[in-house]
Amino acid sequence: MKHAITKIEERIARAAQAAGRRVEDVTLIGVSKTHPAELVREAYAAGVRIFGENRVQEAESKIPECTDLPDIEWHLIGHLQRNKAKKAVQLFRLIHSVDSLSLAQALGRYAIELGLAPVRILLQCNVSGEDSKEGIVACNWESDAQVRSDVTALVAAIGEIDGIRIEGLMTVAPYSDDQEAVRGVFRSLRMLRDLLQSAVPNHTLTTLSMGMSGDIDVAVAEGATLVRVGRAIFGERTYPTV
Ligand SMILES: *Cc1c(COP(=O)(O)O)cnc(C)c1O
Repeated sequence: MKHAITKIEERIARAAQAAGRRVEDVTLIGVSKTHPAELVREAYAAGVRIFGENRVQEAESKIPECTDLPDIEWHLIGHLQRNKAKKAVQLFRLIHSVDSLSLAQALGRYAIELGLAPVRILLQCNVSGEDSKEGIVACNWESDAQVRSDVTALVAAIGEIDGIRIEGLMTVAPYSDDQEAVRGVFRSLRMLRDLLQSAVPNHTLTTLSMGMSGDIDVAVAEGATLVRVGRAIFGERTYPTV
């Protein structure tokens, strides 16, 4: 695993350098979903400090097994249901998958109720138009003024909520061998970030969470600051059948 992580770090460094970016501005997240705490420890020993989980329930049992690891940080990268929001604010340092006003309100309410610092969030956006993708619908925002105004209004409303801090955007690119199509999705997210920044002047949208095992390089080229890598670190996932 150490070797795999070194290779990914090299890929990130090469892509950053080619794009004229600083390698320190890109952080690797090890996506440990479906994998046990021992593999988290192995990745940690190889230098990974941030781990991404997509289910609250799975994280709830895994995180306590790793509390002895200094500086470890857990992020939620998968869809969050409102009834898990209270647990999520207690478990995760950054929630990448906020995609509705009601979820953002719930997160802010729990942060205040529990006396926590504002919850750090990213807004998950669907810029690719794939039906199956979660996220705020932002397909064709460049060409469609209605989409643009709807997204801007929603994000402005989220920006008014107390108890949350919007730090940027996240997207999942469509699964595709066409790296240029994928590049277009990442570029679109970056440009959408620039548009939305003016809708939330009291927040600073510096984070772009984009890129997974198959498309790290184009994501970094297009400005990713967080890349979420599962298979290239931990190998293929075997999902339980039930
Ligand atoms: C599983 C997952 C990843 C990691 O994907 P890999 O292809 O294994 O690198 C990244 N982001 C999200 C949202 C995921 O659910």
